[in-house]
Amino acid sequence: MKALEVKNLKVVFPTEEGIVRAVEGIDIEIEQGQCAAIVGESGCGKSVTSLAVMKLLSTPPAIVRMDKLEMNGMDILHLTDKQMQQVRGKDVSMVFQDALTALNPVMTVGKQIDEIFLAHGKLNFLDGQEGQKKHINVRKEAKRRTIEALKLVGISDAELRYKAYPHQLSGGMRQRVLIAMAFACNPHLIIADEPTTALDVTIQAQVLDILKDLQKKQNTALMLITHDLSIVMNMADVIYVMYCGKIVEKANTRELFMKPLHPYTMGLLGSIARLDDKRGKFVQIPSSLPSPMRKPAGCYFHPRCTYATDRCRQEMPHLEELENGRCIRCWNYQEIQNAGK
Ligand code: SF4
Repeated sequence: MKALEVKNLKVVFPTEEGIVRAVEGIDIEIEQGQCAAIVGESGCGKSVTSLAVMKLLSTPPAIVRMDKLEMNGMDILHLTDKQMQQVRGKDVSMVFQDALTALNPVMTVGKQIDEIFLAHGKLNFLDGQEGQKKHINVRKEAKRRTIEALKLVGISDAELRYKAYPHQLSGGMRQRVLIAMAFACNPHLIIADEPTTALDVTIQAQVLDILKDLQKKQNTALMLITHDLSIVMNMADVIYVMYCGKIVEKANTRELFMKPLHPYTMGLLGSIARLDDKRGKFVQIPSSLPSPMRKPAGCYFHPRCTYATDRCRQEMPHLEELENGRCIRCWNYQEIQNAGK
């Protein structure tokens, strides 16, 4: 059973200036315990995708359509808002980029995590000795589990931090609190949207280690949204590369890093290539993402692609499935590979 299965997701925003097609029919599948990264430049539709999967987009203004949305075999697509509130936090949870905005500023972090256990943590009874069920003090139990959760994400003096307000913690510690909240009820799926972008490099690495460690220990599926390929190298099992609302390449992480097929993926790799990288064949991508209201005809990437041909300027390539579930959207990927040999 898959932790997440999304089929043909489309998200459109009607605006005064025109229609914004933010996501144009994408499919995502994540196995239990697997980490799938959605990678692309800011504005490519990856965050909108994650919000659509969580059913957190306001409709209107957004128009969201998909053929299938299942989490762990459960049909999420047809759930009401009220039912969805039960699913969020228990079956799926999210780690946002900006912990300061995501956390309630007037509530201690401990109480905020308590709320999750109280809402979804089945604290009414605990199994007593000899199979007897006994009443427990649910608030005390929530606090005990919260302190445990804070320790799990490496927060020292957890009892003390329990009473801290978000502004009294460092950025890295706040992000750890968000991770503790996300894992609190052992959900099947966690969606982390640029979870470390706001942090400095050293803290970034520590926070990613915690995320990866908990994901493996709890066998949770993780959908990691990022613009930075370098952070997914050691975390993701599979990578979806997104451009202008479409998936342009999908591959397992090793294959994608060893042998990227799409010129956009090559460009993303070029932006993280080290000075001592002997491959030297990945060049950075010129100019920037086109406006979502004025996407070019044909392949959306053609104005930035060194390999563009007349066909690329006229016809959108389809997403071709290769072996091992690998997918590529490019008319010329074979010629590009042959030329690079
Ligand atoms: Fe470049 Fe053409 Fe491939 Fe698009 S289809 S990525 S323009 S070569």
